[in-house]
Amino acid sequence: MLFHEIAGHRAIKDNLIKTVRDGRISHAQLFLGPNGNGKFALALAYAQYANCTNRKDTDSCGECPSCVKFNILAHPDLHFIYPVAQVKDKKKPKSRDFITHWREYIKECSFYPSLNEWYEKINIERKQGIINVRDADEIIRTLNYTSYESIFKIVIIWMAEKFHHQAAPKILKILEEPPEKTIFILIAEKQEDIINTILSRTQIIKIPRIPDNDLYKKLTSNNAFNENEVKNAVRISEGNYKKAIHFLRDSGKEQFYFENFQFWMRLCFKVDILKLDDFISDFSQNPREELKQFFLYALKATRNSLLFNYHNERIIRLPGEEYSFNKKISPFINHKNGQEFIELFEKAHDHIERNANPAILFTSLSLKIIDLLKMKA
Ligand SMILES: [Zn+2]
Repeated sequence: MLFHEIAGHRAIKDNLIKTVRDGRISHAQLFLGPNGNGKFALALAYAQYANCTNRKDTDSCGECPSCVKFNILAHPDLHFIYPVAQVKDKKKPKSRDFITHWREYIKECSFYPSLNEWYEKINIERKQGIINVRDADEIIRTLNYTSYESIFKIVIIWMAEKFHHQAAPKILKILEEPPEKTIFILIAEKQEDIINTILSRTQIIKIPRIPDNDLYKKLTSNNAFNENEVKNAVRISEGNYKKAIHFLRDSGKEQFYFENFQFWMRLCFKVDILKLDDFISDFSQNPREELKQFFLYALKATRNSLLFNYHNERIIRLPGEEYSFNKKISPFINHKNGQEFIELFEKAHDHIERNANPAILFTSLSLKIIDLLKMKA
């Protein structure tokens, strides 16, 4: 992984690079920040840079023997620890048992891993993965007894929230008395879920969400996606690379409509005319077919809100986020105005088909919706 391949975080990259160049790399660091922001990729780029034998000012060379092994995640001095759980043929699982899956998955997710996907990859969706004491024991053995070929031994611990209570003290012990020339990089999303003693023994590096313009640059850099779609994806993904990619792929369509519908309704509710105007000029540039699908989605969401009003919650089958949004908005889409909402969205769907100007249509719809949302049940 090279620094320049990672979206955003210029200042953080510069700082990391400086620690290597100045020879003051802290031996235990915690990269902390929200899902999909690239902290794993940064950790890996940092580790690669620290061991690159032909470092450039701002990045690894990408070609030295060390970089080549980093590229395939198979450097003998690069160790990964991540949450796992029992599977059929592994009753006492540890990270190393899943290393083939891990290498595959990290490539598949383009170095932006997430817990759910990882659990799916190793077929443990229904279980809670943990970092267990066997991993702690094994890493101690590995670090103490193997000779190394590079400048630093690196241990990347992904999702430090998942330490089993038995594993934590052992890991703490090595963080306190680290073997020479060893760097631990812990990665986590939620500070409040990490054991305090681990927090106090690591240097915390907070890694924020990816700024919108950096995410946009990254997603348009290889021309894989249409610019307008990328704009949409960036707007609703809150600096989360994974979320943006998900929207941009077809499987994310339903989620894409939901996110946009939710976003639009919130702006109407808040009567935020400025942001509504931005939303409309972006969103109305989607292809007509897409807009038609969007209004079909809006109809579905309206019906769901009405079902909530009539206490038919049990027949509503929606993913969690969508369920709670529909429930929340249901007092505002109710028996008094429900029919009007349905007519609005049906007509909008027809107008789009008959070549109405989408931006004008969305503007007039938004104004009507602002009024309708005021009719509380
Ligand atoms: Zn190199």
